[in-house]
Amino acid sequence: MTTDWSDPDIRDAVEGHERFKRQFERDKAFYRSLATRKQKPRLLWIGCSDSRVVPAQITSADPGELFEIRNIANVVPPATAWDDSVGAAIEYALAHLGIDDVVVCGHTGCGGIQALLDGLEPPSDTHLGRWIDYTRPAHRLVAAAQVGEAERLVETIKAHIQFQIDNLRTYTRVRDGLESGKLGVHGWLYVMETGDLLAYDSHAGDWQPLGRRDEP
Ligand SMILES: [Zn+2]
Repeated sequence: MTTDWSDPDIRDAVEGHERFKRQFERDKAFYRSLATRKQKPRLLWIGCSDSRVVPAQITSADPGELFEIRNIANVVPPATAWDDSVGAAIEYALAHLGIDDVVVCGHTGCGGIQALLDGLEPPSDTHLGRWIDYTRPAHRLVAAAQVGEAERLVETIKAHIQFQIDNLRTYTRVRDGLESGKLGVHGWLYVMETGDLLAYDSHAGDWQPLGRRDEP
């Protein structure tokens, strides 16, 4: 296995890295401090793998600020599914990094949700087919609610985020944190068309733009 430097995709990455190294040199003190102290991220961010939805970019976060789990369609399998990749990251974030806020962030135009709406059913004996199964509860809910076609995708994406938050509560650490009032769990939607973030308000049962609010 060798790196083919003439491959344009590889060359882009290498040139990008060269630009990064120049920035690294300029901000050396900052990067050195990251390397010499333990990480202390402020959020556990559970988001989609989609290349267009970059958590650090949409929150203007610096390295060291977000601990991320990214997978297709920002899925949180229930604890009983024993998905060790997601489960271990949740446990590590809460128990070892001391993170006290978890964001589950979906996004408009999510291909992982779109798949079943388009009738694309990856075979159930593939990893993709098994993974996409986690989006079915949202699809079933929205189908039962007879949502119009124009709104179907975004409503399914929103419902899916809420289901992932329910699943998050099946993890002991999360449940304990919520019961003691020490943990915050947030459902957000990134609107790719406008750059907005919407937050789910479980009391009002609706989605509101995320923004600085005046203190009451
Ligand atoms: Zn997505």
